[in-house]
Amino acid sequence: MAWDFETDPEYQKLLDWADEFVREELEPLDLVLHDPYDKSDPRVQAIIRPLQDRVREQGLWACHLGPELGGKGYGQVKLALLNEILGRSRWAPSVFGCQAPDSGNAEIIAHFGTESQKDLYLKPLLNGEISSCYSMTEPHGGADPTLFTTRAVKDGDEWVITGEKWFSSNAKHAAFLIVMAVSDPDVSAYEGMSMFIVPAGTLGLEIIRNVGVGGEREGSHGYVRYDGVRVPAENLLGAEGGAFVIAQTRLGGGRIHHAMRTIAQVRKAFDMMCERALSRQTRYGPLSKLQMTKEKIADSWIEMEQFRLLVLRTAWLIDKHQDYKLVRKDIAAVKAAMPKVFHDVVQRAMHLHGALGISTEMPFSAMMVGAQALAIADGPTEVHKITLARQLLREYEPVEGLWPSGHLPTRREAARARYADLLELEVGNS
Ligand SMILES: Cc1cc2nc3c(=O)[nH]c(=O)nc-3n(C[C@H](O)[C@H](O)[C@H](O)COP(=O)(O)OP(=O)(O)OC[C@H]3O[C@@H](n4cnc5c(N)ncnc54)[C@H](O)[C@@H]3O)c2cc1C
Repeated sequence: MAWDFETDPEYQKLLDWADEFVREELEPLDLVLHDPYDKSDPRVQAIIRPLQDRVREQGLWACHLGPELGGKGYGQVKLALLNEILGRSRWAPSVFGCQAPDSGNAEIIAHFGTESQKDLYLKPLLNGEISSCYSMTEPHGGADPTLFTTRAVKDGDEWVITGEKWFSSNAKHAAFLIVMAVSDPDVSAYEGMSMFIVPAGTLGLEIIRNVGVGGEREGSHGYVRYDGVRVPAENLLGAEGGAFVIAQTRLGGGRIHHAMRTIAQVRKAFDMMCERALSRQTRYGPLSKLQMTKEKIADSWIEMEQFRLLVLRTAWLIDKHQDYKLVRKDIAAVKAAMPKVFHDVVQRAMHLHGALGISTEMPFSAMMVGAQALAIADGPTEVHKITLARQLLREYEPVEGLWPSGHLPTRREAARARYADLLELEVGNS
């Protein structure tokens, strides 16, 4: 019977290496360098390349990818265990070759791209030479893609794209943008939207501004205008009208990977809470002596471990089924649980730090905004809860035609039917 909570010793050695590497090399880097996506900065390249080489030597580069793309094809459980280390540092995903949105973009080009698209965009992306952007959300339509209006019109052997996109993260550093546009307005949005690869610098492509979140002075979420942007027909990604299927492929993996990294952030807040509880003195002794502090610590640990198990179980299900669609319910549950556990643990840690907690000297304010971002990005919590409930209710739907009287049996009727032969009961009459 395979039901095990232990990591195999060989992989544990790699995790131990990653843990030390992130602590010693990457967490300090977070304090001096701020933007892992700017590949044009030679200082960044000088620092990051040798670090990436060390990751490659350990066989931990781009672990979300299969061997055909230079990864190890470790699967989601191993990835979850690694990501709950990498999530501690902003730089770690870039150094380990699995940073969003590049990882998701690489996944869809690998899956749906032509050989020439793979050569032009996938290879340099996987080598960490360029950054990319995923440009889907619009100013007037985010959670509901049926409201998107950005239009792609075929003109000879070109597509002409016109519209505005919003929150296109890292557009300013991207060598190319993957944009979703309506290519056929006469059919449903699920069949009438397509994906296109637009190289940076294409005429008509304009970043109106870079929007920040929370207190960020320099934002990275592009408000992007496509003003008659022309791309050759071969820049269509996947099938014409296939954007929705591609988006779902991308988001299935993305959501669970965010959750894995969120565990790391939650644990970081939890560690800081415990350190504060033991070190801060009151007239009654350290904060840790107070019952309400103990309750905060206990609640946080329980919530964090529950969430971690939910993520690991979902990762295990993905590995087992090899099909995100069959794990939709579980991924939706993870996505809905993620911002709440993050928010609640960070809020307690922040509170126990007093004024220091809300100051810019601590990471908690940014974490609180991060929790809110996780409740919105890749679909708001409500939408995921609705998906979860819908899928769960499906399991309870009555099976038609099984009961002679044509109505759903009560529990008593069903029980009588089960023992009818033995007890000579009349079925359908309670
Ligand atoms: C940090 C961050 C990074 C992002 N990066 C990208 C990116 O790189 N590329 C990209 O394309 N997009 C990106 N987004 C955008 C993100 O995908 C959208 O914000 C998301 O889809 C929600 O759309 P919206 O913001 O327009 O919210 P809206 O659709 O306006 O929803 C607002 C609120 O309305 C409620 N609501 C909406 N619909 C429903 C419903 N069906 N049922 C119940 N309640 C509902 C919810 O409370 C929701 O929070 C990013 C967002 C964030 C926060």
